[in-house]
Amino acid sequence: MELNYQEVVQKLKEGFPQGTVKFRSDNNRAYIPNQVYTDRVERATNSQWDLTIKEIEINVPHRYIKVIVTVTIGPHHRDGYGFSVIEKDAAGEPIRLANALDQAANEAVKTALDTWQMGWSTLAPFYKEDWGGNPALRHLLVSDPPPEPGDSFPVVPNAKIDRFCIFSNCGKQLTHDEWELLGQIPRFNRNKMTYCYEHLPNFWKRKIPEDVRKDFENRRNG
Ligand SMILES: [Zn+2]
Repeated sequence: MELNYQEVVQKLKEGFPQGTVKFRSDNNRAYIPNQVYTDRVERATNSQWDLTIKEIEINVPHRYIKVIVTVTIGPHHRDGYGFSVIEKDAAGEPIRLANALDQAANEAVKTALDTWQMGWSTLAPFYKEDWGGNPALRHLLVSDPPPEPGDSFPVVPNAKIDRFCIFSNCGKQLTHDEWELLGQIPRFNRNKMTYCYEHLPNFWKRKIPEDVRKDFENRRNG
C-alpha cells in the first residue's frame, strides 16, 4: 500500500479521545501513555514505520540510562532521546535495569514522535501556563472561549476543538466548523449527539438549512 506522507502526518497530529491524558504520580504532569502513541503510528502508517535503536548508554556509576532512537516514516526519519534513572538496592547494586531500559527507550520513541506534533493538540490545554499557552500555538487551544472582537487570532473553520465523535469506534476530533454546523440543526442537542459530519445520521443532515449545509460542504471540499 502506497504511503501518503502528508496524510500520515495529518493523522499523527489528530487529537486523542477524552480520557487519553494521564497524570504522572510523582509530579502530576499530564502525559499520553506510549501505547497510545504506538497504536496511532501503527494505524496512521498501516504499520509502515520503522524504529531503530541508535545508541544505548548504561551508566551505572552515574545511575542513568540514555537511549537514542530513530523513527522512520516513509522517506523521513527523526531522532529521539530518552533518559531513565537506575535504581539501587540497599547494598548499592543496580536493580531493575531492564525496566529502566524500557523506560528510556519508550521515552526516546515519544520524543521522536513529538517532533511530528503528535499529541500536542490533546496536551496543550494541560500546559497553558507553559508552551500550550503560547500565542503561536493558539491553534491548538481552539476549544477555548471564542476570541474577542478585534482579536488577531480568528477561529479557523477547520481547526480541531475539544469534542469527539460519539459514533462507535470513530472518536474523530470535530472541527470548529462541524461543531457550528451541529448548532444550526433545529431541536438538535449537539452536546449529547456529538457526531462528525460523516457520521451525522441522514435524518439530521436533512434538517440542516440548505444554504448552511452547502456553505459547509464548500468550505470542506474547498
Ligand atoms: Zn465520526
